Amino acid sequence: MAPATIEAYCRECRDYTTGSCKITKPENSNGNEGRPWYQCVRHKGFMRRGDSLGISPANPHCYCHKPSRAGHSAVRPTNYTCANNICCFFKPYGG
Ligand SMILES: [Zn+2]
Ligand SMILES: [Zn+2]
Repeated sequence: MAPATIEAYCRECRDYTTGSCKITKPENSNGNEGRPWYQCVRHKGFMRRGDSLGISPANPHCYCHKPSRAGHSAVRPTNYTCANNICCFFKPYGG
């Protein structure tokens, strides 16, 4: 279970700030319903996801030297991005 609040880096604010846990609404249309994410209390927008879906030690490492998060289409990974939304790492699957 994701903690209610976290102290983490916000890429929008370019600073460490507080994130407040939100759960995506069931009517969310892109398949993310019911998943936790953090809203930055400073800029009131998306800060980072609250789960570790798609993160695997086998994934390429991002610029933070951490395993990246695989973004999925229906059947296979499509790309890799920073798991914590900190750096601008982006790598196409198989690229
Ligand atoms: Zn922010
Ligand atoms: Zn990163």
